[in-house]
Amino acid sequence: MKKRIALIAHDQKKDDMVELASEYADLLRQCLLVATGTTGKRLADEVGLTVERKLSGPYGGDLQIGAELVDGKIDCVIFLRDPMTAHPHEPDVNALVRACDVHNVPCATNVVSAKLLLAQMVPHHHHHS
Ligand code: PGA
Repeated sequence: MKKRIALIAHDQKKDDMVELASEYADLLRQCLLVATGTTGKRLADEVGLTVERKLSGPYGGDLQIGAELVDGKIDCVIFLRDPMTAHPHEPDVNALVRACDVHNVPCATNVVSAKLLLAQMVPHHHHHS
């Protein structure tokens, strides 16, 4: 059964997400990917990944991913949050991270954590860089 991974990056972290996804593209291609709107577009356009896109974060994309998560449809969340900028949808951001904690779904909020998590998500993956 393929793992379903949610990918979200705030604007200041989108370049980092593209770089991360490029580095882990082989692994990510073995998974089902869901992302917020702009993040998903960049991953599709710049990394060539097949991504199911939800609405943009400020329009409810985090909540759409959260709703799937509480239904047991998300195995892992990579959420590159920008800790230095205030966001109008901060309540939605917090709701998604809280939902991960309620349902014990792994959630990485920075690049190093994301790498550790992704390395565990697909068995027998050998990463070369
Ligand atoms: P986006 O949403 O991928 O559509 O930009 C994420 C966010 O910035 O909240």
